[in-house]
Amino acid sequence: MSCNDCHPNYDYESQAVKVSDYYSDVQPTWCSGCGDYAIWAAIKRALVELQIPTHDVLFCFDIGCNGNMSDKIKGYRVHSLHGRVLPLAAGAKLANPNVKVIAFAGDGATYSEGINHFINTIRNNYPITFFVHNNGNYGLTTGQASATTKQGAKRTANPDGPSADTLNPVHMALSLNAPFVARGFSGNLRQLVEIFKEAIMFQDKGLAYVDILQTCPTYNKEMTIEYYEERIKQVDTKRSDLEDALKLAKDQDNNIATGVLYRNENSLDYLSRIGRKQTNAVNEVSQYSIDKFVQELI
Ligand code: SF4
Repeated sequence: MSCNDCHPNYDYESQAVKVSDYYSDVQPTWCSGCGDYAIWAAIKRALVELQIPTHDVLFCFDIGCNGNMSDKIKGYRVHSLHGRVLPLAAGAKLANPNVKVIAFAGDGATYSEGINHFINTIRNNYPITFFVHNNGNYGLTTGQASATTKQGAKRTANPDGPSADTLNPVHMALSLNAPFVARGFSGNLRQLVEIFKEAIMFQDKGLAYVDILQTCPTYNKEMTIEYYEERIKQVDTKRSDLEDALKLAKDQDNNIATGVLYRNENSLDYLSRIGRKQTNAVNEVSQYSIDKFVQELI
């Protein structure tokens, strides 16, 4: 399958920024049929269609199958700790607001270990883009239940399925007043590229959060491509009504809305709230001779 199968009118190699700029020689190790392949393709296509060169982007990865993308794409990349990608990404953006900061994590890291960071990233409205590979379990560690595993769905460490209520992260983010909230599906690459483009450009206004329903055919046997295709309803992308978005997000079982569910054009990001500094941390970094200091120690 080539890039142009999904977007026949776009010449991915004749532009100033080419899809090959983001190409890495390291081959993916995801399982056959994994939704990570589509997310990997979508991020490269979105950046090329936006004509954003590799030196203007920082990719931050959490631990998990999502994090295995960290050496499968060219550009500045950091592979962080489990559940901790958001503080890293926010700190990087505050140090250098001129780059687009794109963070990736899974549902396990984001909605369990790192849920405090998720909530506080929304509250502070850090100007970053955040993509969650939500496959409904911990794929990398052989399919344990996560906060988005359906209640009662059997998993390796939960033979009777989790007894806890299933989290609805999209509804939660909206209820916390996140300024850009979208839901994507790894089985719809074209829609994913459009959502990614909007989310990457929105970060100048604040946090852009996208929950991606990602298939994990190895461990999540219930939520297959067919399962989602029977339930997903695409919505249009010009949404600014929070109450409407909350209603759309509520159902994550039968009528699952995908698309940009909400964007607040009046969002004030963290830097605007605190008042921008005259210089950014990255501009304050310089080279200084430490010879005199060393001589004093000898
Ligand atoms: Fe993909 Fe699941 Fe395999 Fe991980 S375990 S690579 S999420 S199919």
